[in-house]
Amino acid sequence: MKRISPDPAGVSRRWRERYTTSDGQWPPLWRERKEVFERLLALGDAITADDVERIMGNETWTKHYCVECGKWHRELIQLGEEPDVESRTVTVCLECARKYADFILREMGVVYWDRALCALNPKEGDSIP
Ligand SMILES: [Zn+2]
Repeated sequence: MKRISPDPAGVSRRWRERYTTSDGQWPPLWRERKEVFERLLALGDAITADDVERIMGNETWTKHYCVECGKWHRELIQLGEEPDVESRTVTVCLECARKYADFILREMGVVYWDRALCALNPKEGDSIP
């Protein structure tokens, strides 16, 4: 489990890794992708997520999908395996993660509360796990 957030300064490196050949060359047909890379690189470490989205024309390199609310967010909690082709990975936004935490705590609290009541005042029919 980890928190994930945009890494605008790392987008140019990941973009280059994705779209260059194994020897680091830009295929001739991907001239536009090289131009995107150069625009990203020109902003240096000061680049923001807003800059990346403006240059890319979309939010796919700055946001992730929350499986609970179905919206795209910049800040999320990643659960499970590191993302890969066949990984079992879930991402939820911070608001949905809080709802999960509240739900889990409430459910655990109910279990413990019931056990405590049964232990203090056992009645016929109570099942004490
Ligand atoms: Zn969500």
